[in-house]
Amino acid sequence: MRFDNVLAVDPIDGEFVGSVETEENVITGIRRIPGKREFERILMPGFVDLHTHGSVGVDTLSMNGEALKKWENFLYAQGVTYFLPTTMSSTPSVILSAARVVRDYIKNKTLTSVGGIHYEGPYLSLKRKGAQNPELIRSIDLKEIEETLIESVKLITMAPELEGFSQAQELVQKRGITLSLGHTDATYEDMERAYNHGCHRITHFPNGMNTLHHRELGCVGAVLSLPFSVEMIMDGIHSLPGFVKLIFGIKGPKKIMIVTDTIDATAMPDGEYELGGQKIILKNGRPTLEDGTIAAAVLVFSGAVRNFREFAGCSLKELAMVSSLNSLNSIGIKDRGRISEGYRADLVLLDENLGVRETILNGKTVFQS
Ligand code: FE
Repeated sequence: MRFDNVLAVDPIDGEFVGSVETEENVITGIRRIPGKREFERILMPGFVDLHTHGSVGVDTLSMNGEALKKWENFLYAQGVTYFLPTTMSSTPSVILSAARVVRDYIKNKTLTSVGGIHYEGPYLSLKRKGAQNPELIRSIDLKEIEETLIESVKLITMAPELEGFSQAQELVQKRGITLSLGHTDATYEDMERAYNHGCHRITHFPNGMNTLHHRELGCVGAVLSLPFSVEMIMDGIHSLPGFVKLIFGIKGPKKIMIVTDTIDATAMPDGEYELGGQKIILKNGRPTLEDGTIAAAVLVFSGAVRNFREFAGCSLKELAMVSSLNSLNSIGIKDRGRISEGYRADLVLLDENLGVRETILNGKTVFQS
């Protein structure tokens, strides 16, 4: 494939006008045209969403392979070339069966953007449950963790203040699975201990955690003072635009990862839905529990990317970090997320308003508008 007249955006080398060539599934040729300013399309690394519970009526905990295909196709139209279906707190058998659906799906496809599964819970803080079902949140059970960590599990969100966390952290990390801290009521010290033992990642910051106080730094204080990378939901509801700008100023472009946290009601009409065994009401684009608690999100990835650019006032180079490279690096993937020779051709072609026009996965077009 060859992309001429593009503004190519690499998260390390920056932006240039010119052409990009791919052969088979790899970027093979980069040609910069010095001094040229006009271009037809923007070419960025494909988007990466490591925290999404569902879309278009599909939910991670209840989907089969066919439903996952429908979801994957929907995400191609959003420019997403890698994602992790994400569970909610549930029973070990339900969680495990979702992980098996994902495992078998990946095994049977030669071309897929499904990278594995993210377990959000069930070892979380009851006090900071958000929209997690309190009946299914539980204490750390090492044997259960051992049994549910099958090969498709790439990421797991846990609360570091729970009893047995240190052993759980060791177990998870030994398996090569990335740990993320979230839905937590931890102290600064709990957070710092987890950081020092190799967990450098935060789930949907600062939702589902205690906040900053000048005499008790807590979770938010720990996240801001230690070099954690943070997932952020970019719907302008979970965090106000001004807060996103503030965090961008503090953490910088290398430590923020856009996630959607979308649920099955995404791209669906207003009405009643279900999330992790609880009723969700979608009204005017806002999903809540019956008591009004905000429950996940329905803003698609391409919209989240546009919002981040507006909220943070960042460059396209910085946008390529937060929408792709940082997330990939957070789970140890190094062969994509850049527009540079030798990298895997997972790309998204955008118009000047960042509308998705074409999505390329592993060197093949999977969406075109
Ligand atoms: Fe959550």
